[in-house]
This record gives sequence, C-alpha cells and structure tokens, in this order.
Amino acid sequence: AKDSGKDNFRFYTPSMNEVFSRHMLLEKGLREALKNNELELYYQPKIHIITGQVVGFEALIRWNHPYLGLVSPAEFIPLAEETGLIIPIGKWVLRSACLQARIWQQQGYSFVKMAVNLSVVQFQDEGLISEIIRVLAETGLAHDSLELEITEGISIDDNQSFLAKLIELKALGIRISIDDFGKGYSSLSYLQKLPIDTLKIDKSFIQGMTSEKGIDLVEAILTIGHQLNLTIVAEGVEEPSQLEMLRRLGCDELQGYLFSKPIPAEAVEEKLIELGQ
Ligand code: C2E
Ligand code: CA
Ligand code: CA
Ligand code: CA
Repeated sequence: AKDSGKDNFRFYTPSMNEVFSRHMLLEKGLREALKNNELELYYQPKIHIITGQVVGFEALIRWNHPYLGLVSPAEFIPLAEETGLIIPIGKWVLRSACLQARIWQQQGYSFVKMAVNLSVVQFQDEGLISEIIRVLAETGLAHDSLELEITEGISIDDNQSFLAKLIELKALGIRISIDDFGKGYSSLSYLQKLPIDTLKIDKSFIQGMTSEKGIDLVEAILTIGHQLNLTIVAEGVEEPSQLEMLRRLGCDELQGYLFSKPIPAEAVEEKLIELGQ
C-alpha cells in the first residue's frame, strides 16, 4: 500500500508480478503513443512494371517506443486490434497519409495514389465511412487517389456489413485492394463477392518463384486477376530475377526492397530522384 506523506517517500521496487511483460508494456504504451507523437508513417513506392514510374505509395505505420525502440506493426497492430486502439490509430493513419498525399500532389507529384492499410476491426466502427469522407474533404484529396488495402481473414458470409461498407466505399470512387492475396482461406470467394480494383500477391508467392510450380502459381493468379480486370501488384520484390519473371508474366505493379524500403516522408523526394522521376 502507498504510504501517505511526502517524508515517507520510498524507492519503488517492483515485485515479480509487478514486472510488466512486454505485452503489457506495449499495451500500456500504445494508449499513450498517439498523444506522445511516437507514431510515424513510412512510405513505400509502387512501381509501374513497364514504365518504371512511381505510381503511388503505401503508408506503413512505425512506432518509436521510448525504451523499446522501434516496434514492428506486425507486433503492435494485433494488440491495437484486441484493445480497440486501432480505431483512433487508424483514423490518425488515414488523416496523415491523405494529408501527405495532398502535399505531394500540390508539389507537382500528380500521380500519387495513396494506399492505406485498413484493419477489418475498423469496419466494425459505424463511423468509418463518414470519417473517410470527412478526411478526404478536409485534406482535399480526390477520392480516386485513395486506395484501401484490406487483408483477407474474415468470412464475408458471416459479415454482411463488411461487404455493404466496401460497396459504399467503392461507390464513392475509393479504390479497394486485397492485401496478401492467396494467404487467406477465402481468396477466391473474395474475388467473387467484393468490389475490388487491385490484388496484391503475397510476398511468400514472390519468394516462391524459385521453382517451376511457384512460377506457375503466380502466373495463375495473374490470369485470374486480369480476367477479372484487376490491377495486380507483386509485393516483396527483392531480386532482379523476380522483376524479370514478373515482367514476363505480365504483372502490373511492383513493390519491394529492390526499389525501396518503406522510408520517412522527408526521404521520399530524394528516393524519387534516385528512381529517375
Ligand atoms: P503489409 O500491408 O503486407 O505490408 C507489407 C510489409 O512488407 C511491410 O512490413 C513492408 O515493410 C514489408 N516489405 C516491403 N517490401 C518488402 C520486401 O521486399 N521484402 C520483405 N521481406 N518485406 C517487405 P511492415 O511495414 O513491417 O508492416 C507489417 C504489416 O503491418 C503490414 O503488412 C500490415 O498488415 C500491417 N500494417 C502496417 N501499417 C499499418 C497501418 O497503418 N494500419 C494497419 N491496420 N496495419 C498496418
Ligand atoms: Ca498492405
Ligand atoms: Ca502484404
Ligand atoms: Ca510453366
């Protein structure tokens, strides 16, 4: 128990069960992260496979934790989803990315398509669509400059409101992209039911192009996607040989360390020059 009176100040010695696990430390910290300005967006370019032009960027969140250092979104996004913090964090991501895209457009980078990752948990928020409309209006970003990347993982049959919201977003002219395509269990039913523009082939399939079977699989995804008039993006492109193969197979856009890692906004201009834009 806490002693009263300032003369009784004692050094705090944590007992075993008071020692925070990393999980608890992260959860506690995440509540403060937004307010303390510890979150930042990095941007990774998407390259048109034929022209080599940068056609857009994907915003990827970073968390600079005061003592843990850089924490991966792969670790803290699931935590944000569990705790509901993904709602305010997701709003911040959306607003910041749209604002940045608008700034780049005003600087003359008229091509910028900005992709933002959206958690399925954000679709449970009844305010999602009005928030997106408000952010686009306030930042002045055109609806078709925004692309929402959605990861498969929920069954659409069990979630009609998810589907209804996607249809509404699509009707507003916002682009919809299926992320990590091929990894989830419901890939093909997503293609049939969702109003999508873009497929992102999961990087595990790009890494798998070292075998004949792996190449055939990517080719098959491209065939299905193009049959459905979708733009196909390959993610995780690291090797020139992968670029060569994807070009031969007719993929549309590329993303990966071969061109650029995700970088802070301040580094984008220099990267564009380096990429010959
Ligand atoms: P994702 O959306 O599939 O993003 C692609 C991940 O692959 C990113 O990891 C990116 O840095 C990484 N990557 C890009 N190029 C390469 C490459 O050539 N090789 C390899 N090995 N990796 C590459 P990151 O930034 O750590 O993000 C991990 C995941 O966290 C994302 O996967 C996404 O699901 C989630 N995430 C990131 N930012 C946000 C966000 O703002 N909101 C939500 N809801 N999720 C986010
Ligand atoms: Ca993504
Ligand atoms: Ca992915
Ligand atoms: Ca073959």
